[in-house]
Amino acid sequence: MTTIADRISIAQSRINQAALKCARTPNEIQLLAVSKTKPKEDIIAAYQAGQRKFGENYVQEGEQKITTLRPLYPDIEWHFIGPLQSNKTRVVAEHFDWMHTISRDKIAARLNQQRPSTLAPLNVCIQVNISQESSKSGVALSEVMALAESISSMDNLLLRGLMAIPTATSDIKLQQQEFSQLNNAYQALAHTYSHIDTLSMGMSNDLDSAIENGSTMVRIGSAIFGSRT
Ligand SMILES: *Cc1c(COP(=O)(O)O)cnc(C)c1O
Repeated sequence: MTTIADRISIAQSRINQAALKCARTPNEIQLLAVSKTKPKEDIIAAYQAGQRKFGENYVQEGEQKITTLRPLYPDIEWHFIGPLQSNKTRVVAEHFDWMHTISRDKIAARLNQQRPSTLAPLNVCIQVNISQESSKSGVALSEVMALAESISSMDNLLLRGLMAIPTATSDIKLQQQEFSQLNNAYQALAHTYSHIDTLSMGMSNDLDSAIENGSTMVRIGSAIFGSRT
């Protein structure tokens, strides 16, 4: 039986191999361990294996875990990666270190207003809807720059880059095209603003292609913690 520590080390070596294959430095690519629905014991096991960045999708679950684990493990970095309704922004503003899924000015403005002044600015990514499916959240590529400009004027938010969940597809060409469009948008953003260093894309099944196309953070859940019920 493999342990969480084993699976983190497997994920890490997949990242390293993918990076070397396209002549990138492995430590340019961060592993975000997606711990949604998993108990805090699993997070502690991952922490003890050296993992420091964790992703959560649900506001209340995340708040509970952070409140319990922050005093014990203050060097964990907590990333909110789920959809966020405007009436739940305060929890994210008060507890998380990162927020990956900003796609509306209104959400950004609320997070900015609710971020306690005692905390460092909230690190944020703009979520891009690259698949053009109306059911998916995120802004169109053509809207990235306008939202970035608005966020850049908010003192309690620090814009770090882009996040995307590409089309779930076995069409390699489509996948490649989406990743490369995201990378272009990311490069344009980095050209315009300072502190842009995060392209959050790639999961278990598309990690190689994401890394080849400039990803700096891959989000992996079930391959580390097991499947979710
Ligand atoms: C759940 C989730 C992941 C991880 O998915 P797995 O299939 O468990 O690896 C990554 N990114 C986002 C946005 C998610 O919601």
